[in-house]
Amino acid sequence: MSRQVLILLGAPGAGKGTQAVRLAESLSLPHVSTGDLFRENLSKGTPLGDKAKGYMDAGDLVPDELVIDMLFDRVGREDCAGGYLLDGFPRTVAQAEALGARLDAQDEVQVIDIEVPDSAIVERITGRLSCGGCGAVFHRSFNPPATEGTCDRCGGGLSQRADDSAEVVEKRLAAYHEQTAPVAGWYRERVGICAVDGTQSPDEVFGACRACAQEVAS
Ligand code: AMP
Repeated sequence: MSRQVLILLGAPGAGKGTQAVRLAESLSLPHVSTGDLFRENLSKGTPLGDKAKGYMDAGDLVPDELVIDMLFDRVGREDCAGGYLLDGFPRTVAQAEALGARLDAQDEVQVIDIEVPDSAIVERITGRLSCGGCGAVFHRSFNPPATEGTCDRCGGGLSQRADDSAEVVEKRLAAYHEQTAPVAGWYRERVGICAVDGTQSPDEVFGACRACAQEVAS
């Protein structure tokens, strides 16, 4: 059976999380976010969470071997047997290579790159509010929830992520340019990528992403 593996690339704050939630629903694919998996480990106080914490707080990438093991464990579960949507992975060329080695030739890999200039990123990230319940993402000015502090989707509490502070954003952007931007080139040469203008409204970005993500007949 061929699996649909949809990969969302983009700088932190480009809108990957927001679009991933909607795309996963629309395509009936499980949403696999390595950032969410790390935060889950952090909140449960697991050994993996302890190892990742220092890197995340500093705005650095967690070392490849920790991320890859965690990701493979997640996508090896039953709900991912028919395909999955990756949000925040791969973030290095080594991660892209490890994923490539794990996939089968008949798997349908689709890559969407949500492009937003750096000048817009800082404002986006520092105003961001995330739901502790379902992972939905809002923005104080651009996409406020109907009720302050409450998630429109699941009613969970909204808060700012520790690493969404102004100090940490610059570091995360630097990590993106050095380590993650080359991943888009890597995929461009191998499977092609669909570039989406992430400065449009969330609905327009969703429409463009949805058009890129063709459903795959199994
Ligand atoms: P995110 O929620 O995707 O912005 O991820 C939050 C943080 O988790 C990142 O700043 C990294 O420290 C860590 N992280 C998430 N995904 C990865 C990955 N694929 N590779 C390395 N670090 C990651």
